[in-house]
Amino acid sequence: MRVLLVEDDEMIGHSLREALQGQGWSVDWVKDGLLAQSAWDDGDYACVLLDLGLPKRDGVEVLRHARSRGDTTPVLVLTARDGVDDRVHGLDLGADDYLLKPYEMRELLARMRAVIRRRDGSAHSVIGNTAMQLDLTTREVLVQGERSQLSAREFALLHALLERPGAILSREQLENRIYGWGEEVTSNAVDVLIHGMRRKLGPDAIRNVRGLGWRVTGGMEGAA
Ligand code: CA
Repeated sequence: MRVLLVEDDEMIGHSLREALQGQGWSVDWVKDGLLAQSAWDDGDYACVLLDLGLPKRDGVEVLRHARSRGDTTPVLVLTARDGVDDRVHGLDLGADDYLLKPYEMRELLARMRAVIRRRDGSAHSVIGNTAMQLDLTTREVLVQGERSQLSAREFALLHALLERPGAILSREQLENRIYGWGEEVTSNAVDVLIHGMRRKLGPDAIRNVRGLGWRVTGGMEGAA
């Protein structure tokens, strides 16, 4: 899955990006508020990690801009211990949670999962339909009683499809959800990924809709 990391501190940014990539995230890292705003406007992110004290445009302004155009991407604010006013302001503006610096990576990852889950409309760490359930904590998928472990990219793809079971997502939409900036994406990358997933999950788990894209099956057959 893709995360937008907004952090002007080089050291914090580097270590965060490395840790997130180690967990299988695709990370787009920007270091000022203007770049954050344009990246957020254009990108399709599972989560935004937002520092508030930023050059060019304050993090609070970046958040206000995103929420005012109706964007609902989960936002985790990363902030200094003394910035109580900023934190309250951020939460009022629609941040989903915040984390005080310095924080532990484990806690950051757990809170990211929690805000994403809440956005998925579930207090539980499992999303899916009658045919397929995806565990957001363990990255396991359960299909017809069979449990399989997914790679980070397989997980990002299935998470995108299961957010709205039955909806068709195009190649571009899926690529946007799976790959970050500067990652080389071959023209058949999505096909290769889905091919591998069908071997794991069964040939009908992910259906191709010719010329349009892909969707998951099960539970929504009649509605599609
Ligand atoms: Ca800062």
